[in-house]
Amino acid sequence: MSSILRCHVNDYKAWRRKEHAVREITIRHDLHALSKAFGYFIDHNWARENPVRGVEIPSDKDAVRIHVLTAGEEMLYFDYAKRFPALHDLGRLMLNQGGRPEEILALQISDIDLVTFRMSISDGKSKAARRKLRLTAESREICARRVREAKSDWLFPGRLPGTRAAKVNGRHNDVLDALATCHCSHLKRQHQKGKCACGCDDFRETSRFGFVIYDFRHTFATRAAESGMPVATLAAILGHADLRSVMKYVHVRQESQDREMELFEAKGISETQRWSGFGPVGTAENQEFEGSNGNRREGLSDSKIN
Ligand SMILES: [Zn+2]
Ligand SMILES: [Zn+2]
Repeated sequence: MSSILRCHVNDYKAWRRKEHAVREITIRHDLHALSKAFGYFIDHNWARENPVRGVEIPSDKDAVRIHVLTAGEEMLYFDYAKRFPALHDLGRLMLNQGGRPEEILALQISDIDLVTFRMSISDGKSKAARRKLRLTAESREICARRVREAKSDWLFPGRLPGTRAAKVNGRHNDVLDALATCHCSHLKRQHQKGKCACGCDDFRETSRFGFVIYDFRHTFATRAAESGMPVATLAAILGHADLRSVMKYVHVRQESQDREMELFEAKGISETQRWSGFGPVGTAENQEFEGSNGNRREGLSDSKIN
């Protein structure tokens, strides 16, 4: 126990991030648990120091950070993920329908209705989680192909006959690994036999995508919210019973704030200008004490209107 040092804890942190692509919240939980364990070891004289002390633990704010895929990342990812059909189709279905990975992987052939274009999430953990999702055109195509080729009851069959796929995290990490960027600015996948087309024979990772499979759901939710989908509808589609839990998926980005302000300005400001007195210079004086209906409001000056 006493041979575990702070540097080991830091290595562990880096390893969890890289090898398991875990979210910051998981690392936070890991480190808190480890620290607690060391408190116990110290009490029993099995260790003298807590190696977690001094290690930077992701803050609560970092811990809930999610990754919303850009169109470019999405293209790059799925182009490479094609070689892993289950991962590819799972990711596409999540991006199209917003389902949880475990919900999509648990789909049976009988849950897919290609006449009414719906998928039934039937064994959800709550009443709200049990729902029917209208399939997009791409989802229909994926589901139709999988139904056609099915040899068992499962939409995502496992390796052994009659079983279903449980997890595709390993494949996801393979894709992220292949798409890691080298110091030569090319991707790892471009370094075939250790050598890149640019002549680089020394792959040194400078950046990589940091997202988990669950982020496909976050991306769906964010895109749906930004497209103007009512929050209550989005909650039903995501399988949430209340709106509060949906709000954590709805991250209003700077671009959408800007766009909404532009829309507001285009639609609303001219109206606002008409009755607030902030009109063109020539008419401002006449409108100074006029209300929205044009009637004079006695005793109400601009300085009193906040
Ligand atoms: Zn390189
Ligand atoms: Zn290169």
